[in-house]
Amino acid sequence: MRVTRIAILGGGPGGYEAALVAAQLGADVVVVDSDGVGGACVLTDCVPSKTLIATSDSMVALAASPSLGVRFDGGTDKVTGGVVVDVAHVNARVKRLAAAQSHDITERLRGVGVRVIDGRGRLSAPHRVEVNGPSGAETLDADVVLIATGAMPRVLPDAEPDGERILSWRDLYDLDVLPERLVVVGSGVTGAEFANAYQALGSHVTLVSSRDRVLPGEDQDAAAVLEDVLRRRGMDVAARSRASSVKRTSDGVVVTLQDGRTIDGTHCLMAVGSVPNTEDVGLADVGVQLGDGGVIAVDKVSRTSLPGVYAAGDCTGVLPLASVAAMQGRIAMYHALGEAVQPLRLDTVAANVFTDPEIATVGVSQRAVDDGEVAAIAVKLPLATNARAKMQGIREGFVKLFARTGSGVVLGGVVVAPNASELILTVALAVQQRLTVDQIAATFSVYPSLTGSVTEAARRLMYAAD
Ligand SMILES: Cc1cc2nc3c(=O)[nH]c(=O)nc-3n(C[C@H](O)[C@H](O)[C@H](O)COP(=O)(O)OP(=O)(O)OC[C@H]3O[C@@H](n4cnc5c(N)ncnc54)[C@H](O)[C@@H]3O)c2cc1C
Repeated sequence: MRVTRIAILGGGPGGYEAALVAAQLGADVVVVDSDGVGGACVLTDCVPSKTLIATSDSMVALAASPSLGVRFDGGTDKVTGGVVVDVAHVNARVKRLAAAQSHDITERLRGVGVRVIDGRGRLSAPHRVEVNGPSGAETLDADVVLIATGAMPRVLPDAEPDGERILSWRDLYDLDVLPERLVVVGSGVTGAEFANAYQALGSHVTLVSSRDRVLPGEDQDAAAVLEDVLRRRGMDVAARSRASSVKRTSDGVVVTLQDGRTIDGTHCLMAVGSVPNTEDVGLADVGVQLGDGGVIAVDKVSRTSLPGVYAAGDCTGVLPLASVAAMQGRIAMYHALGEAVQPLRLDTVAANVFTDPEIATVGVSQRAVDDGEVAAIAVKLPLATNARAKMQGIREGFVKLFARTGSGVVLGGVVVAPNASELILTVALAVQQRLTVDQIAATFSVYPSLTGSVTEAARRLMYAAD
């Protein structure tokens, strides 16, 4: 049988995970990437931000430790005066780690026989890719093409990043000093994560939110907990405020809001969403249909409107998560190579906001339950009643579970806790495997543990679900 030739544009999680699967299945695979294997995920977005947050988490832990009886030299129980962050060191570590991760992925791809080309690819025909890179031009003929070109930060015309004072999240790791007064424009997941991190690192942060609350797309109980914590720690949150321009001053920035108010800062981080990298890829010319905002329209097995051309990840606008990009990429390859394939199920995606506390969610939302879209009952257990949380000095946070009325099948949940990204797996497993609250309640959790609140929430729902 002839070996299937696969060309993948973009080496982020959508592209490289697809390449690994396709190579495993015996295909002849080429990955073309213009900015480095691992993509924006590894080099500028997800991995760098989570590495920075590992440092801000340690600052949060230090700040909380006096209440657990830790004293620092000098006999004071105040940490913040004595502990400082070496931003140049932090950023060098972030970049080193990202580069090492990119290198590891490249080696893994090469190890399974994938050819990696450094260059920019463009479709010139449905099954033909023209590549231009440092080592010249090349034409690739392929049976299957996967577009996984990702996205880039959205730029507002009157707030263009200059890389020094007005910043996109990709500029942050070039700073060698901590912004003294940072204005973050945008209170979605990215804005909230950086606002939280820089506050913990020692910046004074003003968060500009166009909505009533931070994290408008998240569970509202969870967003309320986070906003209270951020305000209590000294963050200014400008709610219902839309930025109309950001300009440089002699020693900083001034952010002008639509109602005429102004906010001064030393730096401004723009976190107002992303736009898909779908221009200059030749998509419209070969007949690939684009949707609103230039995203590539795909179905649940990652097919575009053009046979043999698939798309995965942020360029599809389906759900901007590395885990979803990777799943879309793998699904595309299973489908293209004739393997059994399960279509993408967004109702089982576990996601996390890496703030302190973290906010992790999976499955149906409170809004869907409240609007009557799903017949479910819910229980919310504050962590303040959990023995382990008390021992660890955790005062905020909760576990929320949703179960189908009647059957008690777990439909979703929310965890707000320091390690919510780890704790949510229990609920995600239940949602994926359609477990009932009785089954969760009958499962041993360690005593004392935060997951004890998950089994306890299930016990509370056992009789209420009837
Ligand atoms: C600040 C931030 C933090 C995030 N944190 C998380 C997180 O904690 N967890 C999570 O799941 N997700 C997170 N995300 C989202 C995650 O980074 C994206 O969903 C993920 O990167 C999407 O992967 P992708 O493969 O679609 O594209 P990308 O990772 O963007 O990779 C696409 C690659 O294709 C290249 N490319 C573009 N055009 C071409 C072309 N014509 N030819 C060749 N190559 C091309 C690009 O340069 C890039 O290298 C975060 C995003 C941001 C902005």
